[in-house]
Order: sequence, then C-alpha cells, then structure tokens
Amino acid sequence: MALIVQKYGGTSVASLEKIQQVARKVCKTHSEGNDIVVVVSAMSGETDRLIGLAQKLSKSPSEREMDMLMSSGERVSAALLAITLNELGTAAQSFTGRQIGMITDAVHMKARIQRITGEKLKEALTDHNVCVVAGFQGIDEKTGNVTTLGRGGSDTSAVAIAVAVKADLCEIYTDVGGVYTTDPKVVPNARKIDIISFDEMLEMASLGAKVLQVRSVEFGKKYNMPIRVKSTFEEGKGTLVTAEQKEMESVVVSAVAFARDQAKITLVGVPDKPGIAARIFNAVAEATINVDMIIQNTSAGGLTDLSFTIPKAELLKTKGLLSDTVSKVGAKKLQTDENIGKVSIIGVGMKSHSGVAAKAFSALAEGGINIMMISTSEIKVSCVVSNDELDKAVKILHDSFDLGKPVKKQ
Ligand code: ASP
Ligand code: MG
Repeated sequence: MALIVQKYGGTSVASLEKIQQVARKVCKTHSEGNDIVVVVSAMSGETDRLIGLAQKLSKSPSEREMDMLMSSGERVSAALLAITLNELGTAAQSFTGRQIGMITDAVHMKARIQRITGEKLKEALTDHNVCVVAGFQGIDEKTGNVTTLGRGGSDTSAVAIAVAVKADLCEIYTDVGGVYTTDPKVVPNARKIDIISFDEMLEMASLGAKVLQVRSVEFGKKYNMPIRVKSTFEEGKGTLVTAEQKEMESVVVSAVAFARDQAKITLVGVPDKPGIAARIFNAVAEATINVDMIIQNTSAGGLTDLSFTIPKAELLKTKGLLSDTVSKVGAKKLQTDENIGKVSIIGVGMKSHSGVAAKAFSALAEGGINIMMISTSEIKVSCVVSNDELDKAVKILHDSFDLGKPVKKQ
C-alpha cells in the first residue's frame, strides 16, 4: 500500500484507445491497494494546435489569454481519463490546477509553483478515489488568473504534487523506456541509463534533453523526491533519478545532451568599462529571457565583443529589447547567428577525474569540428558548434566516452 503519483505525457493520452490503456494501468495499480494521483498532459499535439489557433488571430496574443487557452488541453485529457476510470469501475475525479490549489507566481506562460494547498486532493484521497489532475497549470493567487508552467510543465506539476501529498513515489510515464545516454534518433546505440543523479539530470534537461522539464528535476532535488521515468507502453524499470550516490562517480561521462534551438547574439565593439555588461543583461533579464553561455573577449583599444546564447524562440524579442541598449552603451553593432547548436557532456564523475574536457576537445578536433564557444561547470562541458555539424559532434562524443557500451561495475 503506497501513495503514488503517476504522470502521463501527451503521447500516452494521444487517443481514446491510449486513454483506455492508461486507465487500465491506473486501475491495476489502484486494485493492488495503492492510492493514486494521476497527472496528465494534453493529448499529443493539442497544445501546439491551440497555440496555432491563437497565432492565426494575432501576432502577439496576450499571455494571459494564451494561458487560458493552453490550459484547456490538460482539462480535456483529465476529464476523459476520469470518465474512463469510472467506466471501468474505479471511482475517479478530475481536478484543474485551481481546484487543487496550485498557487504560482504571476509570470504567464512560465509561472513558477509557490505552493499547493491541496485540500480537495486530500479529501478525495481519504475516500480512496483516484485523483486525476490537469498538469501544466496553476493560478496566480492575487489576480485569480490562470497560469501555465512553461512547455513540458506537467512534469513539474507531477513532482510538486508528489512532494505536497508526501507520495512514496513519483512515476513519469512517457513514450520512451527511460533516460538515454543521448537521443537514440541521433545515435542508434545510445543506452538506457538505470540510475542517474538529480544534478546530472538537471544539466541534461537544461542542456537540451527533452525527457523531463528542468523545474521538475529542481523540485525533485530540493525535496529529495525520487523520480522514475518509464514507458507507458512497454514493461521495464525505466530510469531512476535520485540523490547522488558514491558509485555514480566511477562513471566519468554519463550522457551527451544537445540543443538545436539556440541562437547567438554578439554585441560588437562594446566599450570596456564597468557597468556595461550589467546594463545589457539587466535588459534581457527583465524580459525573463534565459541567457546561457556568455563570452567576453579581452579588449583591444578599449573595445570588446560580447557574445551570448539564448533560446532561438526568444531571438526576435531579445533583438528588440537590445536595439535601444546597443546605442545607449555605445556598442558598434549587434550580430546574430541562428545556425548554431550546443553539445554537452555530463557526468558527476568529472568532479574526480581530470582531462575530460581535453579529451572531448581532441575528439571534436579529430572530427574537424570547430568549437565556437565553451562553457564548463563541475559536472559538464558544453560547446557551441555549427548546427550543421551538431549530430556529428554528438556521435563523436558519445563514441569517444564509450557511452554505447554497458556501464562497467567497479
Ligand atoms: N501540454 C503542455 C506542453 O505541450 C505541457 C506538457 O505536456 O507537459 O508543453
Ligand atoms: Mg514532456
């Protein structure tokens, strides 16, 4: 007897048949004596469809209205799943974010969860009903406005709910068998990882692996809620994302992540004096745009070049924001490059092994790949390369750290 939170992604509830399949899985776990909170995404493609509708009507629809619109997708799949569960004889109730008291800040389309009051959930659970919660959405307490948590946000709803109801387990069901050493579509011999630390998963998610939303892993780490990622359609243990264990350090590199949706902005000829970088990045931060790698050259003649990367989707907005700043700080011009990609190697083992970056750079050099920017942390090395060479770079790094081979137990 356990309290389990199960999250089913869009592809798991993509059709009525799949919803019935999910319902049978939920019924089975429930009939084994467990209490269950199910969190669902919108049916696959639905969120994109809704966004597309809005874009047909307006170039820049209000973010408040976008949240009203997008949150409806999850409401549909939650109700359909509850209907199916009841039909199968398992008492179930669906809830919106507002109904379970999912309180967020006021930042539309990327709201952060502040707390979950959860009375309705607790009541329903005392009666041993299955609770089906619409993921991805919350409510801004001050205004009562509906908010959404950013693309992929149902993962975060699930982990946050697991923490709030003190679940024994948080399972994220998806259309792949777990977390892989890299995307098997790019490197066919990519291997499923059995166990990975929160920190590595955090890096992987923020560096481009799409399997979990970054904030869901942050929640897991902060409240030490282990997350099991597994397939809805196939048997298997999946991947356990959990607190770091000593043995994990024996694997130097655990995964290669990559992101294609990046763009580089360069401010050319920026005066090299105090306060300039602060002004530039404050302008960007005010629009809640996530800046990633930043490089400032050594100055020549009192001028320097400053480059940074951002998500490609934010390029237009960032250019707009900076057009004023560029002239105010006296920079010569602003250049952009959309043909870039980012590849990263990740592993907690890097903390205790040296020469990892050198090995990665040598492998890329042998493959004739030019590195445009580099950034490192204790457990990752990231390189910006040309987007056309990204897949090749991923393969090279995956191979040179032997990630296709089973992990040696030490
Ligand atoms: N439906 C939302 C999206 O497509 C949230 C989610 O699936 O987690 O991003
Ligand atoms: Mg997802």
